[in-house]
Amino acid sequence: MTHRHYQYAAGAGAVLLATAATACLYRDLYVIAAMFWVGVAVCLEASARERRRHLRSVAEHEWARRVAVGDNPQPLRPCCLLAGTSRGRAHHHDRCTRNPIAALLLAADTDYPITRKDN
Ligand SMILES: [Zn+2]
Repeated sequence: MTHRHYQYAAGAGAVLLATAATACLYRDLYVIAAMFWVGVAVCLEASARERRRHLRSVAEHEWARRVAVGDNPQPLRPCCLLAGTSRGRAHHHDRCTRNPIAALLLAADTDYPITRKDN
């Protein structure tokens, strides 16, 4: 499954849990409704996280495509997810966008076709 699929699944889970929580409120089951609302919050956060991952993946693929066709794009911000979580102290060895060689490795394991620049 892709990040989009996880995003949609988490969103659907949030809708179902919200419906269940609302039904519990009508039947005066407040404790159970509160637990369902916690589940809604977790599902919404998961959906937002998967959306961020999808957008990052699309940006990395676009960056790799541009490098493959001969452009010299600026590194992404953060340059890689490891640098983002380590505050720049560590970098992913083959996904860091500071290194153009990483783009070729990134492009090698993608489903996106790399096209040549038409000049
Ligand atoms: Zn990096």
